[in-house]
Amino acid sequence: MTATMDRVTPFENERIKTFTDGGDVAAMEAALAEVKRGLGRSYPLVVDGQRVQTRKRIHSRNPAVPSEIVGETASASGEDAQRAVDAAERAFASWRLAPAGRRASVLFRSAALLRERRFLYDALLVYEVGKSWPEADADVAEAIDFLEFYGREMLRYAQPQPVTPIEGERNELVYIPLGVGVVIPPWNFAAAIPIGMTSAAIVAGNTVVLKPSSDAAIVAAWFVDLMHEAGLPAGVLNYLPGSGSEIGDLVVGHPKVRFISFTGSKEVGLHINDLAAKPQRGQRWIKRVVAEMGGKDAIIVAADADLDAAVEGVAASAFGFQGQKCSACSRAIVEEPIYDAFLDKLKARVASIVVGDPRNRETVMGPVINAQALESISRYIEVGKREGRLICGGRRAEGEGYFLEPTVIADVAPDATIAQEEIFGPLLAVIKAKSFDDAMTVANGTEFGLTGSVYTTDEKKIERARDEFFVGNLYFNRKSTGAMVGAHPFGGFNMSGTDSKAGGRDYLLLYLQAKSMSRKV
Ligand code: NAD
Repeated sequence: MTATMDRVTPFENERIKTFTDGGDVAAMEAALAEVKRGLGRSYPLVVDGQRVQTRKRIHSRNPAVPSEIVGETASASGEDAQRAVDAAERAFASWRLAPAGRRASVLFRSAALLRERRFLYDALLVYEVGKSWPEADADVAEAIDFLEFYGREMLRYAQPQPVTPIEGERNELVYIPLGVGVVIPPWNFAAAIPIGMTSAAIVAGNTVVLKPSSDAAIVAAWFVDLMHEAGLPAGVLNYLPGSGSEIGDLVVGHPKVRFISFTGSKEVGLHINDLAAKPQRGQRWIKRVVAEMGGKDAIIVAADADLDAAVEGVAASAFGFQGQKCSACSRAIVEEPIYDAFLDKLKARVASIVVGDPRNRETVMGPVINAQALESISRYIEVGKREGRLICGGRRAEGEGYFLEPTVIADVAPDATIAQEEIFGPLLAVIKAKSFDDAMTVANGTEFGLTGSVYTTDEKKIERARDEFFVGNLYFNRKSTGAMVGAHPFGGFNMSGTDSKAGGRDYLLLYLQAKSMSRKV
């Protein structure tokens, strides 16, 4: 069936499961058991619809039990990368002409399949990236939302576009795709980000080489199979796991690549932007780069705030998924009159966070992603202990995996290392502000500008923040994480990226170019 605008229902967000329902709990336990039975499976490259094995392998490990291999993937060589770009270029010749309705239908069918397999994907995220059950389900729900939203968006962009009438002419403007794109996602929203970036590029009529993160390569492999099952022709989506620095540079610099869609750290994003800017021999365009990068997100707690709500919002934003969200709160900026009370309540709230193996339903905080992250975050904790006063945490938590205690360090100066650099782990710096003015200056005092939140009951402070808090996603009296597709289009300012606003009405334009046509009549 081919989708058209008048046949689809309006977009609605998927409900995120809280696992308070007995049926959901039983289904999740069964899914965890099924994923466990499939651990260690081998996943080939997918190039032009062909499955290709390589001698070199990448192992994706369970961060809660690092001796456990979730799966292993092939690892692409330079020649494999070249073949993948060639395949994508060949497939573009016909995919770009496929009607928008047909392309959207592939996304809608993929969403339906993902919904059917929701618990299996949830369970895989628990194993592969250490998400708690609700965090895993929120990630998969967001992936379904992206498929449903971008499918509808393509139908909207395919409709006749308004142009000013001129007598004696028939004028029109149509949106056409760009060409071959490279999609490079991070590991942290292991379902939502690769699925969102890839499906947006594909539904717009482009073809894709997907280079997944090595820490989340298995969920990406599942998704590539699912898209083919949903009817995607061979060559439109090529799965190319491999070393970021080896094949990453090759595909980013490839002259046949028209655009790069990247989400990840500032360092890698800037490197990709730099490399993509240099035209290569035979290249006929300026490459388009979408780069969504890191954050150093702040929550301001004003003196007039509802203190309990603020403590809850800061704890959820700082320690949800172990602080490994680009939107995580890593700085709480608290006005002086309530500073001590805030710290007392926060300490008690953080003490209730259960750290452990995320296969257990009670676990709130699982492991951090890998040994390198554990080491890097631990180093920041040591720096933080010198830069401020340790309120709680500060050590590894029990277990074979990469577990860390939720850590709060208070009395941190706004220019301290832990108040400036992205740490990407469960470490919160608390900064005392002399006034709301001061809080606003501190909040804007980093090179990033991704998310921010303000807890206040004062309308004037809300107005101030609306005008002056320079972030792509600003929230009031709620946590800084948990952006919903359609409701909170997502993307940051400054060194946080190109402000692509994933899940918003402008997003698909990044994968399209407009062709204006005029005919004398
Ligand atoms: P990362 O930058 O280390 O890696 C991201 C991706 O880039 C991975 O797939 C990696 O293999 C690849 N890569 C590495 N070197 C490359 C190269 N030379 N050429 C091409 N690709 C290369 O980031 P990560 O650790 O996977 O993810 C965490 C980061 O992502 C954090 O900084 C976080 O803030 C950011 N992030 C941002 C957003 C956002 O929307 N702004 C969302 C999620 C995560």
